[in-house]
Amino acid sequence: QEKDYRMMLRTRNPGGFISAQLYSTIDGLSDEYGNNTLRVTTRQGLQIHGILKKNLKASISAIVKSMGSTLGACGDINRNVMAPPAPLKNRPDYGYAWEYADKIADLLRPQSNAYYEIWLDGEKAISVEEDPEVTAARQRNINGTNFEEGEEPLYGQHYMPRKFKCSVTVPGDNSIDLYTHDVSLVVITDDSGELLGFNVLTGGGMGRTHNREETFPRLADPLGYVAKEDVFDLMKAILATQRDYGDRVQRRHARMKYLIEDWGIDKFRSQVEEYLGKALEPFKPLPPWEYKDFLGWHEQGDGKLFLGISIENGRIQDQGDFRLKSALQKITKEYSLPMRLTANHNLIFYEINPIDQADIESILLHCGIVSDPEKIDSLTRYSMACPALPTCGLAVTESERALPGILERINNVLARVGLAGEEIVIRMTGCPNGCARPYMAELGFVGSAPESYQVWLGGDANQTQLAQPYIDKLPDKDIESFLEPLFAYFKQDKTKQETFGQFCQRVGFEALRTFSENYTPP
Ligand code: SF4
Repeated sequence: QEKDYRMMLRTRNPGGFISAQLYSTIDGLSDEYGNNTLRVTTRQGLQIHGILKKNLKASISAIVKSMGSTLGACGDINRNVMAPPAPLKNRPDYGYAWEYADKIADLLRPQSNAYYEIWLDGEKAISVEEDPEVTAARQRNINGTNFEEGEEPLYGQHYMPRKFKCSVTVPGDNSIDLYTHDVSLVVITDDSGELLGFNVLTGGGMGRTHNREETFPRLADPLGYVAKEDVFDLMKAILATQRDYGDRVQRRHARMKYLIEDWGIDKFRSQVEEYLGKALEPFKPLPPWEYKDFLGWHEQGDGKLFLGISIENGRIQDQGDFRLKSALQKITKEYSLPMRLTANHNLIFYEINPIDQADIESILLHCGIVSDPEKIDSLTRYSMACPALPTCGLAVTESERALPGILERINNVLARVGLAGEEIVIRMTGCPNGCARPYMAELGFVGSAPESYQVWLGGDANQTQLAQPYIDKLPDKDIESFLEPLFAYFKQDKTKQETFGQFCQRVGFEALRTFSENYTPP
């Protein structure tokens, strides 16, 4: 008899889009086959934990029949394509970001029918009509020839050396952590809002391994600008460069960031241009990046409203008087609203008729959910944790289950040094893989041993700066005594408007260490 293998199932939703029908299906599956919870991921997907292997087929086929998919949510392939979740209908650039996230997801989707053969017994998936331009671009080889019928365009026989992550955003909106992807596109429009092309960044990535200096998190570099007519061929050229030159021997060194680090961005660009058949234009100037979470009620620009709901650590569940799962179920069922999952594992309901606002608010209130972001604890609001124990096999210590308690303790330390209410971006993971992107946080905890964390300092609130490792093994029990001197120093010497991450970068680790060594608690 087969063992009861428990699996995790993850959806693929370009731009974080989930229809009301799909949400209801996934929510039902989590009750029928999962552990009665759902988890919003940091790549705008949904995870169901605890599915027995024997129930996978029923689950995946139900998702596909509700117009969803799990294809490419994992594996050495293009992963879920991210885009800003805000439904700003009066901003054409946001519309282009959604449109091109969908198109790039289609372009880089594997063509094999194996997925449908395995999970749907070969039944043809009901799918939305694909843009013919995307189909043609996929069918065209980078050397100008067309692929043969039945060939796997782009991925060939061997797929990619490692996972491949893309995003599309608009100037100024860094709600998707754009420096952390293999490829990020930034929509460039003319003054009337017409799409002209894209700025392109390449070579970001978070994962590393403890005590292996050759592995490291890396921020993406500007590659250049591409006109909209060439963007699909450019995406293929970048993917093909990593496919053909990425390291297939050492898995630890296989992400595209290492190829770019080893070659330098200029050599990488030359190879991409060779595959593309033309030179890229210079990167266009951009305004500064700002991290936005879009929580609370907002107008979406066409008379309707959207509502961003904070989800602590992305976990959708009912627990005592806090009944987030029930609230989302009821809102989805009664108002049939589409949603966008965010890169900070929150969600946004949109297309809300203003006359429904009060009723939706009362459902949330009844279920113990706060919709006003100002009433959410500021550390919790901006924090992220990966699932880690007990569901992730790579975890060396706790993350999701530990973070709420640790934030409470950090809040106490902040209050003690006179910094109550301070906003600090805190991220935690149970291993150095970095799924919750801790290396971009102002204060990052990375599991390094049971109940111990490596601590990273110096990222910034807008996720534009890489943090650095400050201490390798901080036992959980010492968090207060470790942080108090750092916060006291910050309180004493911070300049107006300076965030904790900026402060750590400015004064430097040596000064932080000296201050900590000489610190006497008041
Ligand atoms: Fe990702 Fe590691 Fe956390 Fe598992 S423990 S979810 S691999 S960061």
